[in-house]
Amino acid sequence: MDTIFSKIISGEIPCEKIYEDDHVFAFLDIIPTNPGHTLVVPKKWSSDLLDTDEETLKRLIVVVQKIAKAVMEATGAVGVNVAQNNREGAGQKVFHLHFHVIPRFEGDGYEHWHGKPYENGEEKLVGEKIRKML
Ligand code: 5GP
Repeated sequence: MDTIFSKIISGEIPCEKIYEDDHVFAFLDIIPTNPGHTLVVPKKWSSDLLDTDEETLKRLIVVVQKIAKAVMEATGAVGVNVAQNNREGAGQKVFHLHFHVIPRFEGDGYEHWHGKPYENGEEKLVGEKIRKML
């Protein structure tokens, strides 16, 4: 599958490369939430988390941890968010699995998702539905 990230991995499109091994590639996001915002992607294409094989996921998450530590140390961040969008409905724009590693700074203005409490009994029903799908 040809995506902008496949072209970055192959070198066809330039990037600020941070890390590469046989299976994983990491580079700076072109429009960062904060400086140091890094994308970690598998070389083997999959669209998102839901269609990715376990071996690829295991390899990726180990690199995500490595990058998160390096980004924090390099930028002096006070924390790091690892974010991941799946499907258009969740805001995914590039359909090549990727993890965002986002360093956080005091007062950087980044907003978390907002929560809303369950209605009476709803929690149990939702829980049951999800457990049935496992
Ligand atoms: P998504 O919304 O799919 O989770 O995020 C895609 C990310 O890819 C965005 O944060 C966007 O800034 C980044 N991005 C899109 N095109 C390019 C590009 O050509 N180069 C780099 N380095 N990042 C890109």
